[in-house]
Amino acid sequence: MQIFTLPASPALARLEQAARERILILDGAMGTQIQQLGLGEEDYRGQGSGHVCRHHSDHPQKGNNDLLILTQPQAIEDIHFNYAMAGADIVETNTFSATTIAQADYGLEAAVHDLNAEGARIVRRALDRATAIDGRPRYVAGAVGPTNRTASLSPDVNNPGYRAVSFEDLRRAYGQQVRGLIEGGADIILIETIFDTLNAKAAIFACFEAFAERGQRLPVMISGTITDASGRTLSGQTPTAFWHSVRHCRPFTVGLNCALGASAMRPHIAELSAVAETFTCAYPNAGLPNAFGQYDEGPEDTARQVEDFARDGLVNVVGGCCGTTPDHIRAIAESVTRHKPREVRK
Ligand SMILES: [Zn+2]
Repeated sequence: MQIFTLPASPALARLEQAARERILILDGAMGTQIQQLGLGEEDYRGQGSGHVCRHHSDHPQKGNNDLLILTQPQAIEDIHFNYAMAGADIVETNTFSATTIAQADYGLEAAVHDLNAEGARIVRRALDRATAIDGRPRYVAGAVGPTNRTASLSPDVNNPGYRAVSFEDLRRAYGQQVRGLIEGGADIILIETIFDTLNAKAAIFACFEAFAERGQRLPVMISGTITDASGRTLSGQTPTAFWHSVRHCRPFTVGLNCALGASAMRPHIAELSAVAETFTCAYPNAGLPNAFGQYDEGPEDTARQVEDFARDGLVNVVGGCCGTTPDHIRAIAESVTRHKPREVRK
């Protein structure tokens, strides 16, 4: 596939230019904001909201946060708007689990196209509202999660050759997701929380197929997750190995998110920053979860640690993952304006 002979989307050139001028801001967590709404089963189904999902499922839907795109669109749009006004240049769709593979848990495989297309449209609406107020351009990042299955490892210790999902399954599922996101107006595809590089490669391949059909290349952001104390991904790669596994797709950014707070992420983002011939992106959790699974780290605490990344020239894009709020993003945005973006040799 001669993917790099395709013209780049206008957003790619604008983002590259902006990222050379200043550190760009990505938004924060959806989960924490959705939790604060205190929604029950009927709210997830949209009963009473006038937005009942036209796709039927007998499974309980409470906890299916992506479904809220269809059943509570105004609430989701308002969360995106709050992040945009807090200073985010790039805002992610609420589509982390919007693949047939992840939605199978909820019996809503049939809703996947609508979730992605609408998910992107809702972010676009929220960003246009924000831009109408302050005139700043903002970008929709179509969020592509890892799914709940891993292609390169067996979930069964007694059967190491078994795989719960194949590259082909993932390629197909991601292809449907990415096409939906692009149809809804995503400017960027963000492949995030990567614990298994083979899953991410299927997502990258699916992006290339979708771009080829469309005749245009979108910026791709790649974000891995370090899940163990030795500083490796679940599929066993160091940050350097991870970069070499994905650099062929010429991503707009490569970086890390989730699993760790900013301080614990620092050596790993520093390693990636030293090897990557592209922009880097870091969006850590708000520290480590407490015994109840909640995040206690305040906005100023997180911002101080992320500012250290910026001061030391490690990053081009920063934001927040689990436990972060619009206040965290506002504090991060304010703290990094004092610093120059990392210099990139491309
Ligand atoms: Zn996270």
